[in-house]
Amino acid sequence: MEFVTIRDHHEPIISREIFEATQREIERRHELYAAKNGFANRYAMSGKIICGECGSTFVHIQRTVGNGSPVDAWRCIRRQREGGKKRAIGNGDEVGCNCCNLHDRDVRDILPYVVAQVMEDRESLLQRFLRCPCMYSLLL
Ligand SMILES: [Zn+2]
Repeated sequence: MEFVTIRDHHEPIISREIFEATQREIERRHELYAAKNGFANRYAMSGKIICGECGSTFVHIQRTVGNGSPVDAWRCIRRQREGGKKRAIGNGDEVGCNCCNLHDRDVRDILPYVVAQVMEDRESLLQRFLRCPCMYSLLL
């Protein structure tokens, strides 16, 4: 499929300045995320799924199922690094996470519903995003 781009053809949903500032912020967060977590953030959903148990982000993994074939899946960083069973360690801290793995196909199946929900509420989300202090620093 070939795409044709016609620049400045119609009234934009957001201004070019906000679009470009957003792209810079996405890139900045991408680099920060990779530096902090050691994961490359290379999948569309990288860093966008938050664990309901521990609050860390999900990362893409490949699991091997019974017949030895690889399956694309997602799991939270804490579970990936510390194990799938939350437990106390000597100093009173806890490690691990009891969350479950998500099959990549399930993530792909629910994505259209999440996008539809976001689009329904896009004005409110955009306003919340624009009120974020990091956006002010980018726009000033
Ligand atoms: Zn977790």
